[in-house]
Amino acid sequence: MTEQAPIVIVGTGLSGYSLAREIRKQDKETPVIMVTADDGVSYSKPMLSTGFTKGKDAGGLAQASTEAMAEQLNVRVRTFTTVTGIDTQGHELVLGDERLVYRKLVLAWGADVIRLSLEGDGQEHVFSINDLMDYREFRKALGDGKRVAIMGAGLIGCEFANDLRNGGYEVDVIAPSEVVMPGLLPDVAANAVQQELENLGVRFHLGTVVDRIDRQGGGVALSLANGETLDADLVLSAVGLRPRIGLAEAAGIATGRGITVNRALETSAPDVYALGDCAEVDGHVLLYVLPLMACARALAKTLTGERTEVRYGTMPVMIKTPCCPTAVCPPAPDARGSWDVEQDGTDVKALFKSPDGEVLGFAVTGRFALEKQALSREVPPIHG
Ligand code: FAD
Repeated sequence: MTEQAPIVIVGTGLSGYSLAREIRKQDKETPVIMVTADDGVSYSKPMLSTGFTKGKDAGGLAQASTEAMAEQLNVRVRTFTTVTGIDTQGHELVLGDERLVYRKLVLAWGADVIRLSLEGDGQEHVFSINDLMDYREFRKALGDGKRVAIMGAGLIGCEFANDLRNGGYEVDVIAPSEVVMPGLLPDVAANAVQQELENLGVRFHLGTVVDRIDRQGGGVALSLANGETLDADLVLSAVGLRPRIGLAEAAGIATGRGITVNRALETSAPDVYALGDCAEVDGHVLLYVLPLMACARALAKTLTGERTEVRYGTMPVMIKTPCCPTAVCPPAPDARGSWDVEQDGTDVKALFKSPDGEVLGFAVTGRFALEKQALSREVPPIHG
C-alpha cells in the first residue's frame, strides 16, 4: 500500500454516492475510486415504488449518468465490476483475477433480496425490485400484462401495491402475517393502511403463503396454502432484504445481522469501513435513507482526517402509500410503554408512551400524517 493509494468505495447506491459527495465537501482532490456491480447510474431508490404514480418509467427515474457522476464528484467509477474478496492484510480488493490496492476501503454494497424457493415451473415470472436495473426489467416484463401478484405485505409490498393500482393494474397481495407491515406499524395504523388500499382495489390474502407458481397461458397460477388459486401476469416478490455480509465474513471481518461497525463506521479490519444497507451500526440495522445520510456525513470527515462518530437523531419513516399517507417512528425494541390511540376512521394517531407519559415513538395515518414533523421533535433521538 502506498500513500497515494485511493479511497475505494464499493457501491454506487445512495450510500456510495452520498459518501463521495460528502468527501468532496471536505477534500476536492484525494483520489477516490468507486467500484460497482451495476451500471453506476445515479437514482433515488425510494422513488422506484412511485413510478406509475409519478408517470415515470425506469429511464425517467434515473437522475444522472455514471459519466456525469464521475465528473461531478471527481471520482473514477468502475461499472459492472464485482468484488469477489478482500485481502485486509494486503489492503487489496479482489476483483476476480485483478487486485485493487486501497488506502481506505468503504463497503457500501447494500442488501440482498430474500428469494423464496417455491415449487412450480413459473419462476421466470417472479421479479424482485432492489435497484433501477431490476425495475427496468420488471417494467419491460410487465408489457401488456394487467395483473400483478405481490408476495409480501411489508413497506415495499404495500408501496408497490398502491403504485401499481395507480397504474391501473389488478393487484393481489399475499403474506403470512395477519396485518400489513408487521413490526413497523402498530396494528391500528396497519389496519388503516390496509383499509385504504382495499378501498383502492387491492385484494389482500393475509395469514397464508404462496405454495407454488405454475405457468398458465402467458402468465402464472399461484397456489396458496389456504387452498385459493390466483391468476397473474407477473409476480413481484417483496419478502424482505438481508444485509450483504458474505464477502466481509469470508475476509474475517466481524459481522452480525450486518457488517459490524462502531459509531465511527469502523469495521474490525484496519482501514475498512461500512455504511448503508449492509452495515450494522452500533447495533442498529436500519435499511433507510436518513441513517445512511448521517453515516455518510460522519464518515467523510473521518476519511479526510477528522475521526467523527455518527449521531442518529430520530429516524421517522414516510410510507409512500398516497391513498393513506403514513409516517412512523418505531419505539426502540426495548422501550417500555404502551400505545395511546386517537382514531377517526382511517385517520390514526398512535403515540407510544412511557409509563411517565414521554412519547417514545409514533405512527400517524391520513390527516394525522401532517403532524409527523412536530411529533418527530418530541421523540428522543436514537443516540441521545
Ligand atoms: P444499494 O442502493 O443497494 O447499493 C448497493 C451498491 O453496491 C450497488 O451499486 C451494487 O451494484 C453494489 N454492489 C453490491 N455487491 C457488490 C459487489 N460484490 N461488488 C461490487 N459492487 C457491489 N428508505 C427510506 O428511507 N424511505 C423510503 O421511502 C424508502 N423507500 C424504498 C422503496 C423501495 C422500493 C426500496 C427497494 C427501498 C426503499 N428504501 C426507503 C430503502 C432505501 O432506498 C435504502 O436503504 C437505500 O437506498 C440503500 O442504499 P445503499 O447504497 O446502502 O444500497
